[in-house]
Amino acid sequence: MNSGKTENPGKLFVVATPIGNLSDITERALETLRSVDLIAAEDTRHSKTLLQHYGIKSPMVSLHEHNEASQIDQLIRRLQQGSSVALISDAGTPLISDPGSRLIAAVHEAGLQPVPIPGPSAVSCMLSVAGQPVDRFCFEGFLPSRGSARRKRLQELVREIRTLVFYESSHRILDSIADMKDTLGPTRSCTVGRELTKRFETLYRGALTDVLQRMAEDPNASRGEFVVVIAGAEGNAEESVENGRQIMDVLLTELPVSQSANLAARISGARKKLLYEYGLKKKPK
Ligand code: SAM
Repeated sequence: MNSGKTENPGKLFVVATPIGNLSDITERALETLRSVDLIAAEDTRHSKTLLQHYGIKSPMVSLHEHNEASQIDQLIRRLQQGSSVALISDAGTPLISDPGSRLIAAVHEAGLQPVPIPGPSAVSCMLSVAGQPVDRFCFEGFLPSRGSARRKRLQELVREIRTLVFYESSHRILDSIADMKDTLGPTRSCTVGRELTKRFETLYRGALTDVLQRMAEDPNASRGEFVVVIAGAEGNAEESVENGRQIMDVLLTELPVSQSANLAARISGARKKLLYEYGLKKKPK
């Protein structure tokens, strides 16, 4: 039986699209979307606006949370027959809180290699302007929608020292920030990004309690799409720096400052820069 496989399988391109401002798309993304045989889109009606704006006429099929499993075989077959396929989601980078991970795993399992076409994502966009530490962060995506499950998840994150990043919808933003304030503490520093890259783009920055109050007082503040960035836990940060210093004391007896700081940062979770500065004081060059 002929499986339809060719010696030259097609490529699956994972293409990032704008998160609001239609101009935020790369030339490479546009070239790819124009040239592929098929675009697998999360919501074909939604993506039509973007594709029409750029005069792109490549045929589309839908690939969303509920049909991903059943579409995979067909898409893998198309790739094996030599067709090129682009995967896009409604906004930003596919797979980041969006469908596609099962397809990408299946592409690897079929011996093929997906091709990334990078571009916007609300998480990197927001981190670039949040004014919170970004050298390490913990992307949590959406919190559970039910209050009790949400608070439980937040409770598990209380001691996390990395900056926390959450996606949130307009329906739950105020409830979620109230839960964050109650669980993580009212004084924890946070930045909320609303409608990034769009007309009503707004950043709210300050202690959780202040940000909650400002947003609750302004009825427009809970409209649109949101990313919440929260500073990591302070106490733990101090603890890990102290651990890092103790590890440095041992490593510095055998290794140069930079290598010691590198290893001590990896072991303790403390910032490498702080440990490097500590090392230079103990063992000047
Ligand atoms: N794949 C997308 C990405 O790369 O960012 C995320 C898709 S997820 C289903 C949608 C969520 O991303 C929204 O509920 C919101 O939390 C966040 N988001 C997307 N676009 C945004 C924007 N322009 N401003 C703020 N948040 C946004």
